[in-house]
Amino acid sequence: MARSSVIVIGAGVAGLSCALELAERGLSVEVVERASTLGAASCSWMAGGMLAPWCERASTEPEILSYGIPSIDWWSQRFAGTVRNGSLVVAQPRDLPELARFAARTERYQWLDAARLVELEPDLGGRFRRALLFPDEAHLDPRRALAHLAEVLAIRGVAIKFGIELSAEAADADMVVDCRGLAARDALPDLRGVRGEMVVVRARDVRLSRPVRMLHPRLPLYVVPRADDLFMIGATMIESEQRGPVSVRSAVELMSAAFALHPAFGEAEIVELGADLRPAFPDNLPQVRRDGRIVRANGLFRHGFLLAPWLARAVADAFFTTDIDSETDDADLPQRRRA
Ligand SMILES: Cc1cc2nc3c(=O)[nH]c(=O)nc-3n(C[C@H](O)[C@H](O)[C@H](O)COP(=O)(O)OP(=O)(O)OC[C@H]3O[C@@H](n4cnc5c(N)ncnc54)[C@H](O)[C@@H]3O)c2cc1C
Repeated sequence: MARSSVIVIGAGVAGLSCALELAERGLSVEVVERASTLGAASCSWMAGGMLAPWCERASTEPEILSYGIPSIDWWSQRFAGTVRNGSLVVAQPRDLPELARFAARTERYQWLDAARLVELEPDLGGRFRRALLFPDEAHLDPRRALAHLAEVLAIRGVAIKFGIELSAEAADADMVVDCRGLAARDALPDLRGVRGEMVVVRARDVRLSRPVRMLHPRLPLYVVPRADDLFMIGATMIESEQRGPVSVRSAVELMSAAFALHPAFGEAEIVELGADLRPAFPDNLPQVRRDGRIVRANGLFRHGFLLAPWLARAVADAFFTTDIDSETDDADLPQRRRA
């Protein structure tokens, strides 16, 4: 029996994760992407890549924690570049109450004093009296992770066709997974864009082994270390759908916060300033909606890499579940390949 065919529209983290999960479950999958190269038009290209469900819990719904925890294993099993070193949260002495408030809203952390902090991150020595360590968190470089998913898909025979702009209705396949991010607003009118800006710098004199968040009442910031002395500094979160380059205000705020984390960031080279709109539903939680042969997977908001594995599993489950709320009867559902 021929395998049922699935077209995934969009090669961001949602699309590639869904394609992989479906291919792993035996379906014949193809991905189409409107941009000519991976990441060129994806919000996913701008992400920090923190897999930090316990830190996120301090300011989000409990679902982010339950959906997000399994993603650390999902990524580790598929992408060797997943770094499981934990993450740190620090605050300037005047903002220490913020650190206690942060801790009170989450779990699975350890308080560090200055001596223990310096053991873990020598470069932060002498600058912070206390810190929170979230030992079970992880991080990855989103661009390498996406490239790796594309390679794994190619090995599984899943082609990514670039330069094709497709609508779900026009896709010629048994089933369609719409992972167009914010572009899917034509079909998901309650989707909105939340602007995020970030900076990538090269700082040869800073060594960090894990992401560091610095709490601040006005501008909380995080710094994620990457290979080749690169650091991603992020991110603003602005309820605006304005596209366009990073503003001077945001660039100054992000870079001065990094400078406050470590003065050597003052000597760093600015490699990139980037901005995009995160796709979000009103409750800021991701959703999978099925309408006949079309499954729409969206709303990753600021948790793209953290929640894409959950989204991918939910999409695959929707394919293989018969009693979902759907206009399609079971006969239209793809069949698993028979061995
Ligand atoms: C500054 C910033 C920092 C962030 N930091 C983090 C972080 O640390 N951790 C984290 O987990 N998340 C983070 N995020 C959020 C994350 O980037 C998003 O949640 C995620 O990228 C959304 O992924 P997506 O695949 O749904 O959308 P996208 O990545 O935008 O992918 C959608 C794709 O669909 C394609 N497409 C659209 N229409 C069509 C069409 N008609 N035909 C074919 N292709 C089409 C687009 O070209 C695009 O490639 C951050 C976001 C920003 C902006």
